[in-house]
Amino acid sequence: MRDDSCVACAGRIVLQAKESTSRNLARQLSSRTRYPVMYRLVAGLSLCAACLEQLPLIGEEICLQCGREYAADGLCQDCHKITGETLQSNRSLLRYNEWGKDLLGTYKYRGEERLAAFYAKLLTIVVHRYHAGTSFDCIATVPLHEQRLQERGFNQVDLLAKRLGADIGVPVRSLLLRTKRTAKLSQQTGRTAREESMDGAFSWAGEHLGQAGESPYRILLLDDIYTTGSTLRSCAKTIIEHAGPHSHIYSVTIYR
Ligand SMILES: [Zn+2]
Ligand SMILES: [Zn+2]
Repeated sequence: MRDDSCVACAGRIVLQAKESTSRNLARQLSSRTRYPVMYRLVAGLSLCAACLEQLPLIGEEICLQCGREYAADGLCQDCHKITGETLQSNRSLLRYNEWGKDLLGTYKYRGEERLAAFYAKLLTIVVHRYHAGTSFDCIATVPLHEQRLQERGFNQVDLLAKRLGADIGVPVRSLLLRTKRTAKLSQQTGRTAREESMDGAFSWAGEHLGQAGESPYRILLLDDIYTTGSTLRSCAKTIIEHAGPHSHIYSVTIYR
């Protein structure tokens, strides 16, 4: 892939052509953060003008718990049903459509450097959009099972975490191990089946998080997509069981 080509359509990136779109997007995304910071991030995305224009951004009206696009106030129907929520909140940047499915698939199975840089930048945008001013103590990721890691050769989310950590100056720590090999989400039907299959899927990797201080220990938990949230909630549950209730877990994903 050439350096001046769009990571989504392989077309040529012409900076002047996407200038006004970059400005519009940066304006939309910078209600809680400084515009110049957001502009630099948006303008730096390796997308051509047409692909940038079509980026399926989640709008301003969202479910305050899971970050899904939502037109009324408060929580969505699914979040109303959750009891014993372990995540402080989830925030995502894009709606998961066919465009996202294809692009994420390419990244997951080929792990191209430029796509890693692109997706890491999207995660940085989510953090600036929703968590500007919050200081996080560490970044953690949803681990892959050993066997799947060997098949794939790398954990795509770990690569993103490293770049995001460098961008926002927060250390990445390996907090969890995946102890249960679960079927692919697409092969499981129904929300309850997913919740059950994720139950006990993770264990503590043994890191000591330090003394519980006055303020909560804030963890940014990363994954590529929030579907039902069962994977992220299961990770958060394991973290809280081992690190205590003063650990506050905020999940951030690219897609929702
Ligand atoms: Zn393009
Ligand atoms: Zn919700």
